Amino acid sequence: MFSLFTESLKLAVKSAPWWAAANVLLSAVRSVAPLALLALVKMFIDTVSASVQTGTAAAGYGLTAIIAAMAAVYLADELSFDAGAWVRKNQSDRLEGFMYGRLHEKSVSLDLINFERPEYFNILSRASREAPWRPNSILNNIVLLLKGGVSLLLVAGMVFTVHWLLAAVLLTVNIPGVWLRLKYSAILYGVRREQTQEARRSAYFSWLLTGDRPSRELRLFGLGRYFMGLFDRSFAQQKKGEMNIIGRRTVIEMCSALFKTAAFVFILLFTARQTLAGVLSLGTMAMALLAFRHGMASIKELMAAVSGLYEDSLFVADAFEFLHLKDSICAAEPVAAVKDLENGIRVENMSFTYPGNAVKTLDGISFELKRGEVAAIVGPNGAGKSALVRLLCRLYDPDSGRITFDGTDIRHFDPLQYRKQFAVTFQDFMLYNLSLGENIRLGDVADDDGERIVRSADRAGLRSLIASLPEGLGTQIGNMFDGSRELSVGEWQKIALARSLYRQAPVIILDEPSSALDAEAEFELFSRFRSTVNGRTALLVSHRMASVSMADRIFVLDRGKITESGSHEELLNARGLYFDMYMKQAGAAQA
Ligand code: ATP
Repeated sequence: MFSLFTESLKLAVKSAPWWAAANVLLSAVRSVAPLALLALVKMFIDTVSASVQTGTAAAGYGLTAIIAAMAAVYLADELSFDAGAWVRKNQSDRLEGFMYGRLHEKSVSLDLINFERPEYFNILSRASREAPWRPNSILNNIVLLLKGGVSLLLVAGMVFTVHWLLAAVLLTVNIPGVWLRLKYSAILYGVRREQTQEARRSAYFSWLLTGDRPSRELRLFGLGRYFMGLFDRSFAQQKKGEMNIIGRRTVIEMCSALFKTAAFVFILLFTARQTLAGVLSLGTMAMALLAFRHGMASIKELMAAVSGLYEDSLFVADAFEFLHLKDSICAAEPVAAVKDLENGIRVENMSFTYPGNAVKTLDGISFELKRGEVAAIVGPNGAGKSALVRLLCRLYDPDSGRITFDGTDIRHFDPLQYRKQFAVTFQDFMLYNLSLGENIRLGDVADDDGERIVRSADRAGLRSLIASLPEGLGTQIGNMFDGSRELSVGEWQKIALARSLYRQAPVIILDEPSSALDAEAEFELFSRFRSTVNGRTALLVSHRMASVSMADRIFVLDRGKITESGSHEELLNARGLYFDMYMKQAGAAQA
């Protein structure tokens, strides 16, 4: 717990050192000012009552000094309150930005395999909820704790000088409350942690009801009421446990308020008796009562700080759980430098299974991709084609076997450098709500070569689309922002292809690049495929047999195994799965 506090404090200080210092300073002023005021109130009453008793105006000069001191302290207290709110806001905004930076950095660098695990999204969701503000809450609670602690000690000392019994009542009357708060903080944390999955489910149903992608099916199938019902149930389930606990805690806190009121009545009676008996002066009685009230407020503050810190320590652990997730996709020793492909990429007896799957996704596959050749992988749905593409780019590591790049195991390369060798159009390519030109340039953000953007767009068959757009390549595309122009799925796919062509990588991999293209665009793409890829090593993934027939070599992947390989003619002659698939598709095309 201590290390979590120190790590959080380091973050809070690192993100805004001066604001953090100002925050602590102003809090110190706020802890001392009310007590100085109390001491001055005592002096004020005693001076006035002495003048009343003696019937003189002796108070004159002394009273003016006391009033001036009280005004100064009062002003300092008020100013530090207003300035404190401003300083805290500045500090927390800076910390929030800083923590978002840390979360994004981690999320970007994290192994892709994490995204295949639901538990990862639970951790991410807890971290995104807590990370931006918990470290600041720890700092504020520690400041509050110090402020409350100092006030309480001073107040207890002040009250003790009046009578030890008052100090004893002040300190003991709040013990049950502190215990209670700590207990319920732990219970609430447990409930909220358990509810992470449910909270994500509610957020998912809410997205189904409000998001762009689901909006069309939602209307056509009339799913609004149905999803609203699912959301209501999930939301109620998520809040039920928490509300029960908060309800119980409130009832017990109300009972403890009765107990504290009884203690206050006792103090009133006790000080009144002592004053009537002439043991206490009027000023001392007033100071004792005010100090007791202030002491109770300090204890409340202290209790809030202690339970807040305890709660922070539980929740901040969730944020650090995400920030400390280990990456295993990194360069293994001895690290090798990546050079442009000279000979080829070999996959050697490689197996891979997605987390949580009982069956191997890829089962002992071996093949070679020679430099400059156009190879293709075909196979039925779920055969493992996309998994293979991700393994080739080292987005995942295999469970066994290896991939070599010009003879070096790719685990010895820096993954970022290694991935520069690949331009990939994924099956689930991205749409970016940016300009069309930027959408292409994202293939190589380090380079802004207008001519190459135009050439890549031409090769991907985008010339007529660009000519028809009001601002050509500069047209904002998508549907998220004002002045954007939405495109068809096929047009988006051509842009994704142009993005890969723009990237000057020696190996180009296209996973179902023509799934949304019309027959003419598909014919254009594959009939000019070799000039399009321009001598690069290419791997084409498709289940359209006509598209892959021009490849130098075709690998047939079936249920995680390479069952056949060869040229189009060789595979047709072999009369295996390729032949069956080809004949079915040819038959369907003729029918
Ligand atoms: P398609 O032609 O339909 O695109 P594919 O050959 O590309 O199929 P993959 O996406 O590689 O198939 O999937 C291979 C197997 O792994 C399938 O059985 C699939 O159900 C499973 N699978 C895919 N993604 C995941 C995942 N994230 N977690 C667990 N299993 C997965």
